[in-house]
Amino acid sequence: MKTLIRNALLVTMNQQDDVIENGSIVITGDTLTYIGPAEWTPPGPFDRTIEGDRRIAMPGMVNAHCHSPANLVRGLFASRPLEIWRAYYRASLRDMRDEDFYASALLGGMEMLKNGATTVLDHFFGNQACRFMGAGAAIQAMRDLGLRHVVALTLSDKNYEETIPLNETAANLTDEMKRMSASEAKATQAWLDDCEEFIDAFHYPDKLTTCCPGPSAVQRCSDELLRGAAEIARKRKLPMHIHLAETKAQAVMGKKLYGTSLLQHLASLHILAPNLSLAHSIWIEPGDIELFAKSGATPVHNPASNLRIGSGLAPVRDFLSSGVRVALGTDGAASNDGQNMFDALRLVALIHNQAGTDFNHWVTPSQALATATSNGARAFGLEAGVLAPGKLADLVLLRRDTAAFTPLNDVMSQLVFCENGRSVDTVIVNGEVVVAGGRLKKLDEQEILHLAAKTRARLSPAFERAMAAAKTIEPALEEMYFEIFRTA
Ligand SMILES: [Zn+2]
Repeated sequence: MKTLIRNALLVTMNQQDDVIENGSIVITGDTLTYIGPAEWTPPGPFDRTIEGDRRIAMPGMVNAHCHSPANLVRGLFASRPLEIWRAYYRASLRDMRDEDFYASALLGGMEMLKNGATTVLDHFFGNQACRFMGAGAAIQAMRDLGLRHVVALTLSDKNYEETIPLNETAANLTDEMKRMSASEAKATQAWLDDCEEFIDAFHYPDKLTTCCPGPSAVQRCSDELLRGAAEIARKRKLPMHIHLAETKAQAVMGKKLYGTSLLQHLASLHILAPNLSLAHSIWIEPGDIELFAKSGATPVHNPASNLRIGSGLAPVRDFLSSGVRVALGTDGAASNDGQNMFDALRLVALIHNQAGTDFNHWVTPSQALATATSNGARAFGLEAGVLAPGKLADLVLLRRDTAAFTPLNDVMSQLVFCENGRSVDTVIVNGEVVVAGGRLKKLDEQEILHLAAKTRARLSPAFERAMAAAKTIEPALEEMYFEIFRTA
């Protein structure tokens, strides 16, 4: 199948940031084979011609961190620090089953595709009562939508109370803390075996699926588990994904456990490498930025989530000025509360412009767009995120007759600061049109919304029980939070 897209404004995101005013694109199968001026388009015949109508073509965005089970609880939780918020979110997963994970992933995947994301990293933690915690159902949903996905299976072999800096008085375990440990911890080797079986069962790039290990966070895993996970990724040439230093409590716990920063601990285990991406990377130490730069590992910035649950401001300006390639994510809808990458793109370009800082290092539109496209693709080993011959045919066509692009002054700047997803017209993943005229092509949008609402309604009694259980540990976590910020 050979497709020609003609007469479009191309925002290539190649190394020179080339923008081609009257360009065309040729797609052969799943690959881009020509990107350039319309007048040099190679001769046909073409099986399909898409009139660009002077639309804007950009690489499909890569949502580099989210949790697909969270889509059913968007808007449900109060804004609270992560440790408190997480007790509620984790409890909400306890009664979910495969069909619920399917419905949740469909809902979030639909929102991503319709807003110009073509790849997502799903750091999957569901329910251990299901095979692979329900990740297979989420994968099915993303295949059904036609959304490229990297699924990092969450691994964690420590009891909950060993992973947070609770003080002595709070360490009298309540039933809920015991439940959290029971739902999160499992023997190290059992996790590693599960991870290998999961990859064997689902890793299938031709069906848009990359599978990889996703240790939950440094402090939530034994060294043996971290090493074992990295070995699986190395042996199979896969990426690896982990949460890093999202809150001050986590950094404090790292110091308590290892005497170093969490990142330095990973470095000491020889795990830092270009295939490793680390969600958040907020509470790091100055020397850590150099570790990122030297190793080629990728911090993944999730601005909406970080603001919603008050985690802190990642040192994105310092990362970028040190040559660290930052990727961008929405994080799960439990802490965002949407899955729209244009929201994340706008935030990354706005929130780091802080008074008194060197404005020469504020995030530029080009840097922001790279976080949302090429940097994420590179972190996951995908030939995507750039419009260039040889890359995967994952791209977005946006209308120009919208408020966001009228008048058209600077296309890259307007993609970042003005667009919100409403101009998205056509989305192509792996050479296949999956959104046309702003609507999903492969599935019925009303049916997805109906399924999600019905699933949420059925889970209501379970959610209410979960919220009441989580509430019992909130006082101990609140005490911990204030204690951490009282002391240095
Ligand atoms: Zn996360």
